[in-house]
Amino acid sequence: MSNNDANNAATQPTNFIHQIIEQDLEQGLEKVVTRFPPEPNGYLHIGHAKSICLNFGTAEKYNGECNLRFDDTNPSKEDQEYVDAIKEDVRWLGFNWAGEVRYASSYFDTFYSWAQHLIREGNAYVCDLSAEQASEYRGWATKPGKDSPYRERSAEDNLDLLERMKTGEFDEGSKVLRAKIDMASPNMNLRDPILYRIRKESHHQTGDKWCIYPNYDFAHGQEDAIEGVTHSVCTLEFADHRPLYEWFIEHLPVPSKPRQYEFGRLNINYTVTSKRKLKQLVDEGHVSGWNDPRMPTISGMRRRGYSARAVRNFCDSLAVAKTDGIVDMAQFEFFIREDLNDNAARAMSVLNPLKLIITNFPEGEVERLTAPVHPQKDMGTRELPFTRELYMDRGDYNEDSTLSRKKFKKLVPGDFMRLRSAYVIKATGVVKDDSGEITEVHAELIPGTVGENPPEGMKPRGVMHWVSATEGKQATVRVYDRLFNVEAPDKGEGNFLDNINPDSFTEMTNCWVEPGLVNAAPETTFQFEREGYFVADRFEHSAQTPVFNKTIGLRDTWKK
Ligand code: ATP
Ligand code: MG
Repeated sequence: MSNNDANNAATQPTNFIHQIIEQDLEQGLEKVVTRFPPEPNGYLHIGHAKSICLNFGTAEKYNGECNLRFDDTNPSKEDQEYVDAIKEDVRWLGFNWAGEVRYASSYFDTFYSWAQHLIREGNAYVCDLSAEQASEYRGWATKPGKDSPYRERSAEDNLDLLERMKTGEFDEGSKVLRAKIDMASPNMNLRDPILYRIRKESHHQTGDKWCIYPNYDFAHGQEDAIEGVTHSVCTLEFADHRPLYEWFIEHLPVPSKPRQYEFGRLNINYTVTSKRKLKQLVDEGHVSGWNDPRMPTISGMRRRGYSARAVRNFCDSLAVAKTDGIVDMAQFEFFIREDLNDNAARAMSVLNPLKLIITNFPEGEVERLTAPVHPQKDMGTRELPFTRELYMDRGDYNEDSTLSRKKFKKLVPGDFMRLRSAYVIKATGVVKDDSGEITEVHAELIPGTVGENPPEGMKPRGVMHWVSATEGKQATVRVYDRLFNVEAPDKGEGNFLDNINPDSFTEMTNCWVEPGLVNAAPETTFQFEREGYFVADRFEHSAQTPVFNKTIGLRDTWKK
């Protein structure tokens, strides 16, 4: 993280939406109403988190309201599972929507009557052109389109045809309802856009009631108007749709006049933020599900051990601008580490265990040592049982006693080492198996060194973590790393799946943790000393089968 980023995090980022709202409030606007309008066709990701923080955060800031509205106009890709997951994610982030959850589909009757209104006013018609013909008639950016031969149908005919489309008399693709705007408009969205398509599909909210479904453009602005939304914030790709949004608001008997504003999408390197691609990762089994801890989904981040607070802090640190940007993953991770460093309880775990026998400590005895839960904050103390048989990490021992004290601050034969929150010990020997692998390290403790300096000449090389082999508990630890090993996985040639990091997941089943940890509630986060931050798995952790996920390392190891 550069200085610049640190500054950005500390100062208020720019937000042009807030500037607009403040002007509107000065000019007499009474209440700010926003909405977060996901389509329930996948789980929410970090990009959506930014939109959630912006919409709900703005409503909070100006004492307004924010609706949660499912933009469910396309039944083929939508599902109740996604509706439920989205509600859970928004709540988890800490936001409350105003009143009940809204559904675009609950306005379908109104939309239908507004389509009839447009027909009566001569502003819409039923068109029988096939998809190919329609695209030919549409022209392209530099070539004006030409009018559909069905454009001049009478209002009476159009009303009748629309009704019959609705009752399922016609085949899918045989007819559409279009707005009558301008086939020569330089804005392609205004070239008689489609309002309704025939789709004989069951809908997760309305069942089989409808055989026609409105297009996004014929729904979104009207939904905003029905709900009294004042500032309808969406991402930049909708800028070209704004004239159409305004055309509908102008030509329909809507109860209020919302305005659309576009801001830049959040993109983060080393990941993808497209629901379609995330769905592909899930469907093809590249990850264990939408909430796999490697996924940039809100539920994945949650399971990984990111806190809602950290995700919000990150989103709030980003400027709300009129250009798309790519944010460095390291910047996001800075917020994750900062939050965990402040709040995670300290604990010890041994991930790659090697027996350490304290030969001058009596067998069967347990000495109850204590250690602070947090080095700076007052979070109480924890009990650390010390026994003759301990586990240390294999990587903390080296047989070469000539290794310099400066370079190898770990245990070597004949030298001293501090056991974290416990004694200074001196390595005295090892036991090896037939293959020559070390199976036990033997050491002696120096009496009186718990919390005290050792006598002259016994200065430890460093500090290492440990767990009692007889009082500690065995646990499964899942280590996750970034899912993609290139900065822009979905850019350039080839498939984004080719850029999956093959080492993004490792499971270790013979890890050892302090005994108290197995009773941790799921989703409790820890800093395992010297190893990184970990979380008790939301779904699979229990006292009988302790499972911890690695959230993030203590330091950024991806820096170039
Ligand atoms: P995706 O491209 O992942 O499918 P989407 O835009 O189609 O996303 P919606 O469910 O329509 O997904 O999005 C709900 C809201 O979240 C919209 O207002 C959308 O603009 C916003 N949003 C989606 N992705 C991002 C992003 N990367 N950054 C900021 N806002 C986003
Ligand atoms: Mg969308």
